[in-house]
Amino acid sequence: MKSLWNEGEASALNNDLLKLRVYTSRLLGKEEDLVLHGGGNTSVKIKKTNIFGQEEDILYVKGSGWDLATIEEPGFAPVKLDALLALAELDELSDLEMVRNQRMAMIDPGAPNPSVEAILHALIPYTFVDHSHADAVVTISNTPNGRERIEELYGKNMLIVPYVMPGFILAKEIYNMTRGLDWDTIDGMILMNHGVFTFHADARESYERMIQIVSQAEDYLKSEGAQLIDEAAGTPANALQLAKLRRRISEVWKKPVLARNDHSPATVAFSNLSNIGEIANRGPLTPDHIIRTKRTPLILQHEADQDLSAFVANYNQYFDTYNQGETKLDQAPRWAVWPGHGAVSFGPAVKNLKIIEDVTRHTAKAIHQAEQLGGWKALPLDDLFEMEYWSLEQAKLKRAKKPLPMQGKVALVTGAAGGIGKACVESLVAEGAVVAALDINPAIVAAFDQNEVLGIQCDVTDMTQLEQAIHQTVSYFGGLDMLVTNAGIFPKSATIADMDGDLWQKSLDINVTSHQRLLQLAVPFLELGFEPAVVIIGSKNVPAPGPGASAYSVAKAGLTQLGRIAAMELGVKGIRVNIIHPNAVYDTAIWTDEILAARAKHYGLTIEQYKTNNVLRVEVTSRDVADLATLMLGPSFSKITGAQIPIDGGNDRVI
Ligand code: ZN
Repeated sequence: MKSLWNEGEASALNNDLLKLRVYTSRLLGKEEDLVLHGGGNTSVKIKKTNIFGQEEDILYVKGSGWDLATIEEPGFAPVKLDALLALAELDELSDLEMVRNQRMAMIDPGAPNPSVEAILHALIPYTFVDHSHADAVVTISNTPNGRERIEELYGKNMLIVPYVMPGFILAKEIYNMTRGLDWDTIDGMILMNHGVFTFHADARESYERMIQIVSQAEDYLKSEGAQLIDEAAGTPANALQLAKLRRRISEVWKKPVLARNDHSPATVAFSNLSNIGEIANRGPLTPDHIIRTKRTPLILQHEADQDLSAFVANYNQYFDTYNQGETKLDQAPRWAVWPGHGAVSFGPAVKNLKIIEDVTRHTAKAIHQAEQLGGWKALPLDDLFEMEYWSLEQAKLKRAKKPLPMQGKVALVTGAAGGIGKACVESLVAEGAVVAALDINPAIVAAFDQNEVLGIQCDVTDMTQLEQAIHQTVSYFGGLDMLVTNAGIFPKSATIADMDGDLWQKSLDINVTSHQRLLQLAVPFLELGFEPAVVIIGSKNVPAPGPGASAYSVAKAGLTQLGRIAAMELGVKGIRVNIIHPNAVYDTAIWTDEILAARAKHYGLTIEQYKTNNVLRVEVTSRDVADLATLMLGPSFSKITGAQIPIDGGNDRVI
């Protein structure tokens, strides 16, 4: 591992201790092999003068909820050092009391909660303290003779701390171990099964000691012949099988969740190991990962239902064995190992999938390397249970915010690059859903710069492209629950007598046939969806047609009829189908200012009068239509199917 210290960048910080702390914390955070997603923590001790003119030693320690890779100055909680040192003198302190007292000792009540390791940071008598969960060091410690290996590797200049629970218990352990210790005689601390601490008066020195200690561990793994896994090609999981698995996991979890298949060559190779069912079940890389990944993955070796039942039974047994009155968590796995296809992560939001994927990739690497050092050995079950059911984690459950109503649900919207389609994507995402946004316009791929939206270029009149788009959606998000079938064109005006054959056919192809095909391809996935529902974007022209628009109106009437029949056919499968008839939605690409002005003038109206030319005298926007579509896909419409709802401000021909 290389030091990322850049003298130019660092000197620009003018020796500002907090700025330097932010700088080297981010250097640690950049290295996935050191810390992952909120793991690790850092601190700096700074003298500050308070409002009474007194000078105080303040520990600026990473605040909970911040990530070292992206931390900023406000991410460090300022806590009075003497208060933390006084807490360290106590014989006992519950974690909830510790958190409360740490908070009371802060000099900024608006700062985040200090890390649970704040007391430990306070005990280390150096300005800068760095703590990581370095893969290489933990890998070596997670072996049958890990302690001897660590001692052999680092010699006497390292304080080696046996595993205890993080928080006050760990701080107290260090307090006891370091009484009378001359700190200058040690280069750092190795916490067995947990990580590394380094410290120094100088920011660079503390950071670079970390890099050096970890490099030594990496070199040791190499010299002991602990190879990285030989990568293997695999095939992505079958979309329908993945959707089935996601459905079953959602049932166990009692809420819809997303799923994503990681079929990268290293993960596939891991999934193919002959003893995978045994080694993957021994436990996580560091105990804090259990909060993200649970203790073990689901191993798909038989029928998925059978494997999942075994997982749940196992979890229940583990809980019953160690439970001392804790609130039982859900019994759903957070990831699955799927031989030949790699791994699958499960989570209510896209960010959970990413975290689980990263954590499990690092875990897989560590397991494989430790196996070559005599065997992967995670912590015993009681230690892991203690972490999974830690009082602080249990307290978080009670404070958890209510999730957005569509969290964990997957939607697909066609014609999503602009107008009503784009607004539907935005409306669904605002309600917590993830969305596959399809459009023929290639700009769709980059149109939504957020992890919750997958932009797919797709010509909906091409059956092959449509099928690929649906499979891509399911591979990326795990399933399909909601469909907004919106893609359409408005052909230029022509009477029946003057109709151009191609124009007529094109309108039918896009405005009706493509919707039938999309439904046909989506039904097998919707059947596996969570409260599945479809919204079809019709038109006011269905109940109130106009001359010159036969190609459009006939197609939209056909589409409406398709929706009515779909409601009857799919209702038995629990899939709802409803239809929206919008009118006069002018905030779309086709309605330029010039066209609007010309149309208004034609009717002798101002633009404003023209836009609000309806019973309620209101303007209907794309977002109004989108919010209605989202409402109709949600629980408010759970007992409604086959309905047609106009959204037009009231039109006397429709009423
Ligand atoms: Zn830690």
